Amino acid sequence: MKRREINVIIDDDLIEFLKAEKLYQDFIDKKILCYHCNDVITNENIFSLFLNDDKIQFCCIKAVCARKL
Ligand SMILES: [Zn+2]
Repeated sequence: MKRREINVIIDDDLIEFLKAEKLYQDFIDKKILCYHCNDVITNENIFSLFLNDDKIQFCCIKAVCARKL
């Protein structure tokens, strides 16, 4: 599996990144889910994001998910 982590500083940089990737509206609409557990990703629980088969995937802050990265 091809994975590449993107280092993003949460807050302003994240929002700019989401806007650039046209994911910001989905983020606001709570349509972005954790890749591992399908929880809604928010500002409070976002842990990381990564590319998987050229699609951006998100990971929440739960230890069980974060450990899988
Ligand atoms: Zn999760």
